Parts: sequence; structure tokens; C-alpha cells
Amino acid sequence: MVTTKNKTGRPTEEIARLCAGRETIRLMEVCGTHTVSLFRSGIRSLLPPSLRLVSGPGCPVCVTSQGYIDAALDAAGIEGVAICTYGDMVRVPGRRGSLEQSRARGANIVVCYSILDSLRYAEKHPDQQVIFLSVGFETTAPSAAAAVIEAKRRKIDNFFLLCGHKLVMPALNTLLAGNDLPIDGFLLPGHVSVIIGSDAYGDLVEKHGKCCVIAGFEPGQIMSGIEALARQAAEGSPRLENVYGVAVTPEGNCRARECMEQVFEEADAVWRAMGTIPKSGLDLNEDYRDFDAIGRFGLRIGRDYDPPGCRCGEVIQGKVEPSECALFGKECTNHNPVGPCMVSSEGTCAAWYRYGGER
Ligand code: SF4
Repeated sequence: MVTTKNKTGRPTEEIARLCAGRETIRLMEVCGTHTVSLFRSGIRSLLPPSLRLVSGPGCPVCVTSQGYIDAALDAAGIEGVAICTYGDMVRVPGRRGSLEQSRARGANIVVCYSILDSLRYAEKHPDQQVIFLSVGFETTAPSAAAAVIEAKRRKIDNFFLLCGHKLVMPALNTLLAGNDLPIDGFLLPGHVSVIIGSDAYGDLVEKHGKCCVIAGFEPGQIMSGIEALARQAAEGSPRLENVYGVAVTPEGNCRARECMEQVFEEADAVWRAMGTIPKSGLDLNEDYRDFDAIGRFGLRIGRDYDPPGCRCGEVIQGKVEPSECALFGKECTNHNPVGPCMVSSEGTCAAWYRYGGER
């Protein structure tokens, strides 16, 4: 799509040409899936030194506050409760260890591949109260909504969500509101964009003057996205481009959003290190509040904090790179993670550690 203006015919050479003789171009890949793909494919090592990539707040596990993790640990300690969750969440350390350690002490922790697995688990175990740790962005919220609708239809009354869903745009607006984020542009996530549509990003260009490109996750799609961003930055012409037009439309997936709106309402949400961002999360609305684990079990989302010495809060805001954390690769490794950015398969610290860091 962007190759029409490509003067060299090769993305890497074209990016180098666009960056040559200019000040460093700094781009943020918002999404953890992009972060991992950039490392795994070797793309980072092909980019010129004058193009810097920093990670943003797009890893669902990493942006989840410690208060939420501690509430999940509290829930795991309740007699008769089973916690259903994706695998990464069980290793995030909380104030009293991790869910994995709770399981070793006898708590019922069930790792699921989808929320529908947890709904099936609830149906098969009517003697248990099943709480699904419902985190993630607009990519996972529609399936969470669909599961709750299905639970209501089938009168499954032992199934609950601990809601920790987040919305991408309020977080990006908050990051930019501080005016201290030296970012020229954003590589925007293809999967979230499938749901919210490309029109949702208008503010990033119109209000904040940032270069924006929506890209998929295959190496060729990512290269096209970076090339388009480098061109916008080099030309000094921020705009919104979509190099993932095969999946992303201007209006997004209206049916998926209707499903979300049927079940959820926008709510203030606490992000790791970013504080409470107005209307940046989703809570169950009045019609579906019976499925809310917080109300049903009297849980409380406590204060947010980073584990001692951990700089995950700064990593997810693009303020520091993992190697600037004193614990990186020493006390904190893939095998012994201190913070969520090392736990999560989409975490920036985990990607740096696994694939060799700097370039
Ligand atoms: Fe946190 Fe570990 Fe990353 Fe440091 S290296 S910021 S301790 S996850």
C-alpha cells in the first residue's frame, strides 16, 4: 500500500533513506503483540539507529494494576471459588505471592484459553463459584460480553467476571496530555482497530499532531507500517494511514461494539502507574451486574504500586527501556519475573530478555 512512494523498492532501504540526515524519529508501538513480533522477526535489528521504537501501554497483563491482582488473590482465597484466567496472569506477583503460588497452597486456579472455556467450566461445576479474570482491550471485551449474554440466557448463576477491561484511546490521550512524551508517531494495533475502526484515532492526528499508522502483525505488514510512519515523520506531515485495510474499516466492527454496549458501560479505570483514567475501562451495566464478582464477593480493588525496584510503570509509558531497570536480567528474568512486563508473553521486558535487548 505504501510502496507506491517507495523509491528504493525495499522497505529497509527506504526507511534508511527517509531517516538519513534527520534527527532521531521516535515511534511507539502501542501493542504488546507488535512488540513481540518486532523482536521475533528481527525487524528491530534492520532499522537504522536514527529510528527508535519504544513500547506503549498495550500489553493487557502489564497495564493491569497491582490492586486488581491483589483482589484476584483475595478471591482465590474464598472457600468454594474457582479462578479462571489466561496463563500469564497466574505468574504476576502480588502482595501475597502469585495465583500460581496460591494454587500450590490449595486454591482452585484454572488456566483457560478463552472465556468460553471458563463458562463451560462453570456449567460443569455448579458447586463452585467461578470468577473469570476479565482483562484486555477492545479485542477481548466483545467475547467477554458474548459469554455473559450466554450465561444469562442459559441461567448459569455461578459465573462471574472480575472486570479489568481497558480502552486504548483514553490511555493514549492521557499519555499525550502530559506533553512530555517525545514521540513522533504511533504504530497502532490491527486487532483493536478491527473493533474500534480507524476513525477512532482522529484525535491523535488532529489534537496531538502525531503520525499514525494502523498495521497488522505479520513482518511485512509491520515493515509497511514503519515505512509509512518514517515517511510521514520525514515529510513533517502527520496523518492517519491504514496499511491493514484488509481487516480494518473506518467504522470498525459495529456488531462487536453493540455486544459490548449491551453488557458493559464505560467506567473510570486504574492503570498501572498511570493512575485513574476517566472512562478508560468497562464495568458490567445494571442489566448484567449480577455477574460482577466485586459486588457478589465483596472484593475491593486496592491501591496500585510497582514491586520494589521494578520500573514496569515507566516501561509501559515509553519513559524507560527495560535495560534501564536495575533488576533487568539480574533479579528479574523470564524464570523469576519481578514485574508483569517480564511475566507476560507480550511484555516488553520479556521480549528484551528473550530476544536480546537493545537492537
Ligand atoms: Fe519490572 Fe523486571 Fe521489567 Fe524491571 S526488568 S521493569 S523489575 S519487569
